[in-house]
Amino acid sequence: MNLLKVENLSKEFVAERTIFGRPLKTVRAVDDVSFEIARGETLALVGESGCGKSTLGRLIMRLIEPSDGTAELSGEDISTLSGKALLSLRKRVQLVFQDPFSSLNPRMTVGQAIAEPLMLHDIVPAAERPARVRELLSAVGLSPQHMHRYPHEFSGGQRQRIVIARALASQPEFVVCDEPVSALDVSIRSQVLNLLADLQKKFGFTYLFISHDLSVVRHIADRVAVMYLGRIVEIGDTEDVFVRPRHPYSRALIASIPQPDPAGRDNMRPLEGDMPSPLNPPSGCHFHTRCAFAQELCKQDRPALVSSSGRQPAACHFQDELPLPDDLAAAAQVDPRLERLFAAFRAGSSKAIEP
Ligand code: SF4
Repeated sequence: MNLLKVENLSKEFVAERTIFGRPLKTVRAVDDVSFEIARGETLALVGESGCGKSTLGRLIMRLIEPSDGTAELSGEDISTLSGKALLSLRKRVQLVFQDPFSSLNPRMTVGQAIAEPLMLHDIVPAAERPARVRELLSAVGLSPQHMHRYPHEFSGGQRQRIVIARALASQPEFVVCDEPVSALDVSIRSQVLNLLADLQKKFGFTYLFISHDLSVVRHIADRVAVMYLGRIVEIGDTEDVFVRPRHPYSRALIASIPQPDPAGRDNMRPLEGDMPSPLNPPSGCHFHTRCAFAQELCKQDRPALVSSSGRQPAACHFQDELPLPDDLAAAAQVDPRLERLFAAFRAGSSKAIEP
């Protein structure tokens, strides 16, 4: 059963106005996006910086208003919510940001920060809050004694655990993780990702996992949606997208994953050129200015996101005719070093981490 259903969602920002205040230039950060997320599933949203991933996350959380389209959580259109219903949405949907330090108030102890949503949403009586805070800290692998300390006394990975404990406090159904591990060291990344996976198993969370790091996505996501200049260009099961990608942009992203074997690097075909300005996106298929397979039709017609030959949907006119690059299979392999780290931390991920 689907928890989230997004239909034709768009967001336009005004980039420049006339002296009379009328919009002169607009940026379409999210352009006619549709997808669904099943309850208990992890959908990863990947793409280069500036492709609209974070804007899409904020639209789903109703932190910004859509220009068009709808997003339904359990069948309820979130764009129409107000008052108590909107407050209830804030409880049901939580956001984990990239930078755990700026997500926490430096003047509040960890206990106060975690207790805040318990108080705001009136989840437990005041007398029971300290006990719940201790439970939440244990759930994310921290010691209950940490509740009396301040955020600056913790490492980056521990601070991210505190942010996750705070998000857990309101017992959400859906968690938007916006680059939750990109600011952390590789070893700490594995701990936090394993923690997110453990919590999903324990509490049945549904995740929208926003990331530009494909090697991380491979480990955590059930399905992957690839975004380019505000549009989803491919969506499908993680293994299908990584091993048999249908869109040239997905192929280029996967081919750009660093390989552990230096010999394989010679065959890598990283993406060339910069992403065009969203202020003046290319006509037709937005990717045609960087696509090695572009033809005249690509400059004129926007390809629809459709499934062809029974494969995952992709927005490419020539998805059935593209050859599979030789080096792609190698690039799609899981990095064995990361795999070892994940296995090691999976074994100890529920243990308390001392500062
Ligand atoms: Fe490339 Fe054309 Fe496909 Fe766009 S539609 S990805 S330009 S081949």
